[in-house]
Amino acid sequence: MSKVRVRFAPSPTGPLHLGGVRTALYDYLFAKNQGGEFVLRIEDTDTARYVEGAEDYIMEALEWCGIIPDESPKHGGKFAPYRQSERRDIYDRYLAEILKTDYSYLAFDTPEELDEIRKEYEQKGDVFAYNYISRNRLKNSLTLSEEEVQKLLDENVPYVVRFKMPVDRILNLEDIIRGKSSVNTNTLDDKVLVKNDGMPTYHFANIVDDHEMEITHVIRGEEWLPSLGLHYLLYEAMGWERPQFAHLSLILKPEGKGKLSKRDGDKFGFPVFPLNFKDPETGNISKGYREEGYLPNAFINMVALLGWSPANDREILTLEEMVKEFDLHKVHKAGARFSKEKAEWFNHEYLKQLSNEETLALFKGVDGIDLSQFSDDKLLKIISLMKERATFIKDIYNDGKFFFEAPITYDEKASKKAWNAETGTLMNDLADVLHATKTFESEILRKAIHDFAETKELGMGKVMMPLRLALVGELKGPDVPDILEILGSEESVGRIKNAVNNIN
Ligand code: GLU
Repeated sequence: MSKVRVRFAPSPTGPLHLGGVRTALYDYLFAKNQGGEFVLRIEDTDTARYVEGAEDYIMEALEWCGIIPDESPKHGGKFAPYRQSERRDIYDRYLAEILKTDYSYLAFDTPEELDEIRKEYEQKGDVFAYNYISRNRLKNSLTLSEEEVQKLLDENVPYVVRFKMPVDRILNLEDIIRGKSSVNTNTLDDKVLVKNDGMPTYHFANIVDDHEMEITHVIRGEEWLPSLGLHYLLYEAMGWERPQFAHLSLILKPEGKGKLSKRDGDKFGFPVFPLNFKDPETGNISKGYREEGYLPNAFINMVALLGWSPANDREILTLEEMVKEFDLHKVHKAGARFSKEKAEWFNHEYLKQLSNEETLALFKGVDGIDLSQFSDDKLLKIISLMKERATFIKDIYNDGKFFFEAPITYDEKASKKAWNAETGTLMNDLADVLHATKTFESEILRKAIHDFAETKELGMGKVMMPLRLALVGELKGPDVPDILEILGSEESVGRIKNAVNNIN
């Protein structure tokens, strides 16, 4: 069998959506599982929908995810160029071939004429299709004489090349995920293969490239399923062996119905794009998983499980493990519901797996927080206390703000609960005890507080609660002795004095 070659073929019409990332990932996992190659091809023949920066975005997103192509516009390869706009001569060559067959014809109808007909159909409550019936009364090389066609060509009248859909045939289609299905060719229309500017459309360029690039498996979104019949026939027309196909189901909204959209992301507060994307026209920024604080391996793990179940329902897998386990036959036919909670769970799990040193390196890179005043030693202690509960690295800062800044206000409800008329004196006495504690380590401090409470004939809670309030500003955070150790003697005592002066 020939070497497995799988391509991801996005159009640079905007940022990559979560669904696009999943297609690329499955393309990659399948190729690598089979010991094959993964190709990135940019399908940019539709110049009207081209978006500046989209191609770079796609490449950067794949790189961030660790889905590195063997061949691409950037990496090159033996089937270069990998940008369709640079492959015009190849399409021209194959256009000449398909024009010699009975599978194509030239159509001279102007857009205005077609609009007119479309309207006529609409008035009758019908939908117009350029197909095996209507083509017989339209302006094309099937209805015009050879001389008339030649005359139009000599006069440079614009034309498109259309696929001539065979009549009355049943096509038996096969999909690795969905199994067998069939379609009657009479239900399919005569798609444009080459536009009047000579540019091929998606359908033609796509099959030419898949053939030329020796693609063995086409794994793509289910929106292309209705085109599968046409693609089968294009391979037949060209006399080429066709690749195997697999169409992936949609990623669904969190509530389970309908395709996940950017609007859902805005509504429920999660990104639908891997990286931030700045729309070059409006300047609007769409949020990305990277900037939101997701770790790339957590992100792709989450994406991989939207529609595929590894053996034993394992959930946490590295990219290498996914490659080893990936099986297209285990990809689900039904749509996969997106869950923000699940995405966060994955990040939390991956964060827990990082060493404190690895976390520190990432912590220092979080945008918008300045840690320069704090020693690595201190930051590592904070990380080890806060990491277990954090979903994102930035949570270590947000949930542990009190480590970095002394409280200036005290939560009102907490103050009512923890502080009364005698607490000020009590805390002043405790401050003296802490000040006198030579070794400022959590276990020693715990014992000192314990002994202090005992001498005062108070329960531990009666001492710990106001102390926590003084240090944190509210009644939350890790164990108080741990907080004391990290803050150090001077800062801790200072915060207690401050609280005594400011609460009440
Ligand atoms: N350029 C198409 C897209 O944007 C590719 C479809 C395919 O993989 O055949 O989705």
